[in-house]
Amino acid sequence: MKLRIPCAGCLQNAEARAIPEIALVEFRDDGRYEAQCAHGHQFIAILQEQLFELLFDIGAYAIVDGYYREAVSSFSSSLERFYEFFIRAVLLDKKVGEAAMRGAWNAVSKQSERQLGAFVFLYTSEFGRYPVLLTEKDVQFRNDVIHRGKIPQRQDALDYGQRILNLIRPTLRDLREKTPDGIREVVSQHLTQSSNKGAKPNMSMTSPTILGLNRTDAAWQSRSLEQAIQELPSWR
Ligand SMILES: [Zn+2]
Repeated sequence: MKLRIPCAGCLQNAEARAIPEIALVEFRDDGRYEAQCAHGHQFIAILQEQLFELLFDIGAYAIVDGYYREAVSSFSSSLERFYEFFIRAVLLDKKVGEAAMRGAWNAVSKQSERQLGAFVFLYTSEFGRYPVLLTEKDVQFRNDVIHRGKIPQRQDALDYGQRILNLIRPTLRDLREKTPDGIREVVSQHLTQSSNKGAKPNMSMTSPTILGLNRTDAAWQSRSLEQAIQELPSWR
């Protein structure tokens, strides 16, 4: 699975502007991509998409490639990172300061069960109802795959991924309606952190993901995982 980035150097060059070279890069978790195009332009691009979105796409590509254990693992990580995204968006929407946020997160950062607890109560506080969570059966399935060496079949991985999609999508929709400023702030902080990690980037970019934080249209948001997988671009 690779990310396609139009070359910032070509885009600035009048002659080449019509068809910029595309650089193919491996995905990263810091959102920062240093690349070089076929004309030798070196550039740095910052990707707006959030970690939970990328992890879900990585899970989908793992299904395409036949790595079903890895798919289950990536979908599970996607859900965990989505909970983190949710917590950050709600707190930033309430204008909680960076130091307080960091302190609170440090208290839960090493244990996903604590993060889940934080999510459950923040969600309940925000929406006046408790969130739908993974069922005991799904938790058991995930643990069997990740910790006990279970080898899932394609359909098992697909069903599990679909259930994660069914959990994240409506929660993300609720979050978009209730705390749009919080979401914008999380994205903005992510871009700032990526930018400040080294030399100034030449561009920031967005690339549609299956969960699609930036894709709110109904057609995109109603696709099943199976459909989304069939429509995945293949850049190898
Ligand atoms: Zn170029």
